[in-house]
Amino acid sequence: MGRTDILVTGGTGFLGRTLAAHLPEAHFLGSAELDLRDGAAVAEAIARWRPRVVIDLAARVGGITANMAQPADFLVDNLRMAANLMAALREHPPEHFLVMLSTCIYPNEVADEQYPMSEDLLDAGPPPPTNAAYALAKRALWQGAQYGIPYTALVPSNLFGPGDHFGSEQAHFLAAAIDRIERARVAGDPVVEFFGTGRALRQFILADDLARVVAALVERGPRNETLNVACREVRSIRQMAETVAEQAGYQGEVCFSGKGPDGQYRKDADPSRLAASLPAWASIETPFEEGVRRTLEWYRNHVAAR
Ligand code: NAP
Repeated sequence: MGRTDILVTGGTGFLGRTLAAHLPEAHFLGSAELDLRDGAAVAEAIARWRPRVVIDLAARVGGITANMAQPADFLVDNLRMAANLMAALREHPPEHFLVMLSTCIYPNEVADEQYPMSEDLLDAGPPPPTNAAYALAKRALWQGAQYGIPYTALVPSNLFGPGDHFGSEQAHFLAAAIDRIERARVAGDPVVEFFGTGRALRQFILADDLARVVAALVERGPRNETLNVACREVRSIRQMAETVAEQAGYQGEVCFSGKGPDGQYRKDADPSRLAASLPAWASIETPFEEGVRRTLEWYRNHVAAR
C-alpha cells in the first residue's frame, strides 16, 4: 500500500473500532498488520505510508492483576511501541500526531484542593503503584509528543460504551457491572456483590464521545497542548452500579463486600482546557444515564444474544 492520509495505530481495539464510524477513510492498524515493538518494521511502514495524521491508540492494556503480575512486560512493550513510533515519525513528521494518554497516569494522590486535576499535574508525583509501569511508559510517550512534531495529547478518563470489553479480564468497572447485573437479572439472582467499598470516585465517558473529539481535532488540526477529556460530574462506583441496576430493571440488591482493593480513591481530571480549546465538546458530551442506556442496549443485542 502507498501513502496513507490518516493512520490509526491501535485501530483494532475498543476505541479504534468506535472511531472507525467517525473516520471511515482512515487506515486502522492492528498488531497483526504491524507490531509496533518491531522498530525496523515500524520505520519501514511509516516511510512507505508517510501519513499526514497519526492517531496513536496502541497500548498493551490490562487490568490491575495483569499490571501487578507483569510490570516489566507492560513497561518494556509500551515503551518500545512509543519509542519506535516516535523514532519513525521524527524521520517522516506528520502534520498532526494525536496521542492517547489516560487519567491513569496522573499522580496517585494530590492535595485535596487540586482535584479535579489539571493537565499541569500530569507528572507531579508517582503514578498509582497498581499500574505504574503502564503509566510511566505513557508518560514517556507524552514527552515524545512534545518533540517538535505538531501534536495534541488527550488524557481521557475511563471509557465505556457499545463494543466495550465485556466479561474479560480487561473490563473496567462499568462494563463488568453491566455484565454482572444483566446476568443476575436474567438468572433471577437476588443479590450482586462487588469487591471493595464502592466509595472510590470515577469519571466515565462514552468511547463514542472521545471518538468524536478525535474526529473534531483531526478536522481542526494540532492544538500543541495536552487536554483532559472527562465529564464534570464525578460519581462513586456505588452510584454507577445503582444506575446500571435501575436502567437494567434489576429488582435485586447491589452490594459491596468491603473486601479487596478499591484502587485509587479519586483521580478526577478537569475538562476546562478541552472546553476552551474545542467548544464543540459541550455538544459532544453524552449524559451518563443516556450512555448507560445505549451500552445496555448494545450489550443485550450483541453479548447477551450470543
Ligand atoms: P484495547 O481495546 O486494548 O486496544 C489496544 C490496541 O492496541 C489494539 O488495537 C491492539 O492491537 C493494539 N496493540 C497492542 N499491542 C500492540 C503492538 N505490540 N503493536 C501494535 N498494536 C498493538 O484498548 P482501548 O480501550 O481501545 O484503548 C485505546 C487507547 O486509549 C489506549 O492507548 C489506552 O491506553 C487509552 N485509554 C483507554 C481507556 C479505556 O477505558 N479503554 C481509558 C483511557 C485511555 P491488536 O488488538 O490488533 O493486538
